[in-house]
Amino acid sequence: MVKRALITGGAGFIGSNLCRRLLEEGMEVLAVDNLITGARKNIEGIDDPRFEFVERDARDSLDWVTGRVDYVLHFASPASPPDYIKHPILTLQTGSFATHRALELAYEKKAVFMLASTSEVYGDPEEHPQREEYWGNVNSVGPRSCYDEAKRYAEAAVMAAHRALGQDTRIVRIFNTYGPRMRPEDGRAVTNFLMQAKAGRDVTVYGDGSQTRSFCYISDLVEGIVRLLFSAETRPVNLGNPNEVSILQVARLAIDHLGSASRITHLPLPEDDPRKRKPDITRAKEVLGWEPQVSMEEGFRLTMDYFLSTMGE
Ligand code: UDP
Repeated sequence: MVKRALITGGAGFIGSNLCRRLLEEGMEVLAVDNLITGARKNIEGIDDPRFEFVERDARDSLDWVTGRVDYVLHFASPASPPDYIKHPILTLQTGSFATHRALELAYEKKAVFMLASTSEVYGDPEEHPQREEYWGNVNSVGPRSCYDEAKRYAEAAVMAAHRALGQDTRIVRIFNTYGPRMRPEDGRAVTNFLMQAKAGRDVTVYGDGSQTRSFCYISDLVEGIVRLLFSAETRPVNLGNPNEVSILQVARLAIDHLGSASRITHLPLPEDDPRKRKPDITRAKEVLGWEPQVSMEEGFRLTMDYFLSTMGE
């Protein structure tokens, strides 16, 4: 029988790429999004009668969902630092109320539930690379806390539903990801650097650029998400690219990649900006047989092709 998935945040960067992939898996897909950071254009191109989009806020009741649902994927939330800092209360409510609503729907429908969690649960990590067993180092009152604590709460809610109600749950901890259907103006490092280098503007490195991240291309991430969804793994699983780079290296790579005349300029480092971040993906390798395939050079090319093809829309 054809399976049906409901995905909150279905018009977002990761959500819209995931919708396409679930359709390719032969599923019916119901995408829900309030379009605050998601965009209609991310899903407009989906020409498939098995796809349905409903413009709603994930914090509202899901009572209107009728019929069978086999998978509930809770991917709604602002995720770029400027976005969640602009919408802190919505971000907290999307991690808390909306997670409970999505879990309740999954319970009622006897569906598998998946939470899109984040490497931000590790905060400014004191353990490197980060294993899933690490509990994290998060400032509960800092500017990033609305996102970090919302996702930590959401993980706790999922584990409570799993333990107390026997719900079949998945938690994916997503590390920095980039690729087509990101908003060019989302304020993240990869999008800023590529757009600035393309326009010949100064490339804005915050601080001295020695802080590190590990950037994963979207197709690799989506492959890992689908494998986790279809697995029986109820513990959190890190998905990310273990190729750790400094932000200064990323800025230089973007400039070189585009043959740009842009110069690097340094701006103040945002408060609580994590010093380093790199996933330990041993669990994903062992349980899902997954590891990333796409290099940064290739990923930058594909992302830039997308930005150029959608400019002026
Ligand atoms: N960053 C930067 N210049 C920018 C945007 C971001 O130097 O124009 C830095 C940011 O301070 C952080 C890293 O790049 O150290 C990654 O930022 P991003 O917003 O992409 O994701 P985060 O990992 O902080 O959630």
